[in-house]
Amino acid sequence: MKIVILGAPASGKGTVAKKISRDFNIPHISIGAMFRENINKKTQLGCQVEQYITTGELVPDNITCDLLKIRLKQKDCENGFILDGFPRNVNQAKFLNEFSAPEVVLLLSITEQESIKRILGRLTCPKCKEIYNLSFYKNSTCKICGTTLEHRVDDNEQTIKKRFDVYQKETKPLIDFYNDKVVEFRGQDDPDSLYDEIKNFLNLNLMM
Ligand code: ADP
Ligand code: ZN
Repeated sequence: MKIVILGAPASGKGTVAKKISRDFNIPHISIGAMFRENINKKTQLGCQVEQYITTGELVPDNITCDLLKIRLKQKDCENGFILDGFPRNVNQAKFLNEFSAPEVVLLLSITEQESIKRILGRLTCPKCKEIYNLSFYKNSTCKICGTTLEHRVDDNEQTIKKRFDVYQKETKPLIDFYNDKVVEFRGQDDPDSLYDEIKNFLNLNLMM
């Protein structure tokens, strides 16, 4: 199954994608996470993209599409994948269609207000990538691996506004682009019931 997950920043794409990956045994591919790993490791690619990420702009398509192509050619993508954060504009979507078109596009809807609240409270574990939110989790270390939690470099008030604008202008047109492949879910719902709905939907679709 080839799935794309769309939604505003912090709509819950990463959390849902992680669960789909586990339950349907397909790799979770987050271009943003791959970029951040490269920034942390100070690779050449990391240096190239750091400026864009910290200001909330899109990394240029040639860099992003090249990275995605290399990833999708790996053997674990043979039976499908869940793409989180790609495509983010129509040009990237056309590229993906030529390379390996998705069968279904999950859209998580969320208000701007809720998105901002979540982003400002978001903490992540730099080691195992678990995501936490300050409103629910009061510790400063990861409950899975004990590592000290961090704020993402781009999770700050200045960058959020930009990321939201980019979403409205560049990414939202993908809803029309994908048209009848799009299935919308309420990202605002509590994470467990949201995922139950998505899982049921995917199971039904798999049987067809
Ligand atoms: P979020 O969805 O919360 O904004 P991501 O990890 O998906 O988080 O993206 C973080 C940043 O990485 C983006 O703001 C952008 O700078 C860069 N990025 C991620 N995916 C893409 C993409 N497909 N094209 C260009 N830039 C991207
Ligand atoms: Zn951890």
